[in-house]
Amino acid sequence: MRLLVTGGAGFIGSAVVRRAIARGHEVINLDALTYAACLENVASVAADPNYTFVKADIRDRAALDAVFADHAPEAVMHLAAESHVDRSIDAPGTFIETNILGTFHLLEAARAQWQRRGRPEAFRFHHISTDEVFGSLPPDPEVKFTEETPYDPRSPYSASKAGSDHLVRAWAATYGLPVVLSNCSNNYGPYHFPEKLIPVVILNALAGRAIPVYGDGSNVRDWLYVEDHAEALLLVLQKGVPGRSYNIGGENERSNLELVRMICAILDEKAPRATGSYSDLITFVADRPGHDARYAIAPGRIRDELGWRPSVTVEEGLDCTVQWYLDNRDWWQALQARDGVGQRLGRGEGG
Ligand code: NAD
Repeated sequence: MRLLVTGGAGFIGSAVVRRAIARGHEVINLDALTYAACLENVASVAADPNYTFVKADIRDRAALDAVFADHAPEAVMHLAAESHVDRSIDAPGTFIETNILGTFHLLEAARAQWQRRGRPEAFRFHHISTDEVFGSLPPDPEVKFTEETPYDPRSPYSASKAGSDHLVRAWAATYGLPVVLSNCSNNYGPYHFPEKLIPVVILNALAGRAIPVYGDGSNVRDWLYVEDHAEALLLVLQKGVPGRSYNIGGENERSNLELVRMICAILDEKAPRATGSYSDLITFVADRPGHDARYAIAPGRIRDELGWRPSVTVEEGLDCTVQWYLDNRDWWQALQARDGVGQRLGRGEGG
């Protein structure tokens, strides 16, 4: 299949690109190369004859039209977005522009091409979104997000993603565009940009710096290994029912503090400190404003309808991830000089 993947130089998008190329798909990777992008993430497939990179911004309709005209993709996998909640608190404007307006322009460019080609039924617009659109859950382990959970986004990031989800559904209902959606939980794994929790913990620990934990560390997330997610996304694209959405979770709920302690224990094994444990570096810092208490995915639909389950536990995935960061220092050291990396963002004091 000829796939247009947006955001393919980012964390999840690059895992999708690598996997799609390995499966023999043709991939056009469209990315604006923002601060969060890294073409190193796709260096292993860059020379593949099935791979093309296009530097373009999803807010630029003319550029999108040119890509659709040049490449006539059979499916779009839309991952390009501003993705960091803390940055959305400091500077929400870019999130609205890229995540909502950018998705609108991409939908329109896709629709124009789809209509010109006679509205092929096999075309897919796969919109990749987040479980954060559903809001915050109580601690009750029986209560999880299903595909029917009402939207209740609470951060500028999640509100912008919710807006984009609504646009995608509206383009299906109004114009008949064949869409599928997926809402996933927190991803982690190789190539995770060093501003997100898990790489921050690993890199601060290795540098002997304080490991920041927001609030009391009780916020719970459902951790999904990025390679498992990429596999699920290709499955949703190929087997998902048009118009339907699929929640994708890791079946691995952990509080932030539990997770940080697990990472410290793995590092204690793999790269012991001269004295003491890495967990001695854990430092509780001011909480994120509006910090959602808990996210958890009810995995029934994707498991029962598409036969997908995560392949690793969070223990196994974290072990691989920590090893990857130990083995790939050049990759993350090059990114540490980027704007805002290593700083505390999103305390809600600016504006
Ligand atoms: P990321 O920040 O690592 O990568 C985003 C990519 O999009 C970057 O390469 C960036 O250059 C590109 N991009 C940003 N703005 C653009 C624009 N205007 N035009 C073109 N390209 C642009 O993000 P990620 O963590 O890989 O997330 C990918 C998608 O998955 C996003 O839509 C995000 O909302 C969603 N998601 C992520 C997670 C997670 O845990 N990381 C969880 C749920 C959903």
